[in-house]
Amino acid sequence: MHSPRWVTQFGDAARHAERYRHGRVFVAGDAAHIHFPAGGQGLNLGVQDAVNLGWKLAAAVRGRAPEGLLDSYESERYPVAARVLHNTRAQTALSRPGPHTDALRDMVASFLDTDEVRRRLASMITALDIRYETGGAHPSTGYRVPDADLRVGDADTRVHVLLRTGRSILLCHKWIPDIAGWEDRVDVVETHDRAGIRSATGSGGVSTPAAVLVRPDGYVAWAGDGPGDGGLTEALTRWFGPAA
Ligand SMILES: Cc1cc2nc3c(=O)[nH]c(=O)nc-3n(C[C@H](O)[C@H](O)[C@H](O)COP(=O)(O)OP(=O)(O)OC[C@H]3O[C@@H](n4cnc5c(N)ncnc54)[C@H](O)[C@@H]3O)c2cc1C
Repeated sequence: MHSPRWVTQFGDAARHAERYRHGRVFVAGDAAHIHFPAGGQGLNLGVQDAVNLGWKLAAAVRGRAPEGLLDSYESERYPVAARVLHNTRAQTALSRPGPHTDALRDMVASFLDTDEVRRRLASMITALDIRYETGGAHPSTGYRVPDADLRVGDADTRVHVLLRTGRSILLCHKWIPDIAGWEDRVDVVETHDRAGIRSATGSGGVSTPAAVLVRPDGYVAWAGDGPGDGGLTEALTRWFGPAA
């Protein structure tokens, strides 16, 4: 190797800011957490910090952030980075030279022959298994909405395309909940096929709700089956403030 265009250095330090917020100052990305790059998790972690914080900051700037919304940035994102620091420390430990670590690495590698272990590690490294404490009783609440295919009007679209507006969406099928007072913050999207909602709320054995409230960062804030299925008003108020 010769004539480098750019040089830098990195090590295996694992550090985590004690707090993500100090008054009007927030830290995100590598300013909040650094770790050994094992598993290629750092960029995703930082982007997800920003996506989590962005819509909350926008609500605060517009003067309509509900109490505690900005603080939920740290309470939601801190544990996610702590887990990445933990798993990268474990991966660093597995990389050490010497016969003891060689034996440990062989054993861990043999565990990876098991599908369940592979699934668990893949969910952790990709961060697709994150669940925030969003409230709501449906098993899909708190999880990220997959990019499910949807039929809306005469067009085919996808959940993540609808989220590009940076606004919350209330996805519904055959039942349009009354969200009077929140239409300025939440887009109601009626879809013709229940399959789209099923994919968006997890196909793994959970009941498919008739309506799903998705936060602007793509996490389920509420899901329910009909007018008697309470909690929607609480979820709207908790995440978007009181009705206008
Ligand atoms: C060797 C290596 C491999 C990696 N591989 C992966 C991978 O495969 N996948 C993955 O997801 N992640 C990977 N990462 C991690 C990923 O690169 C970082 O997590 C990510 O780049 C952090 O982005 P950031 O915007 O938070 O910080 P940075 O990318 O560090 O951006 C901060 C910017 O701020 C600038 N800056 C600093 N101080 C000031 C100042 N006072 N004024 C103005 N500007 C300033 C810096 O110059 C820099 O451009 C890797 C990291 C390393 C070191």
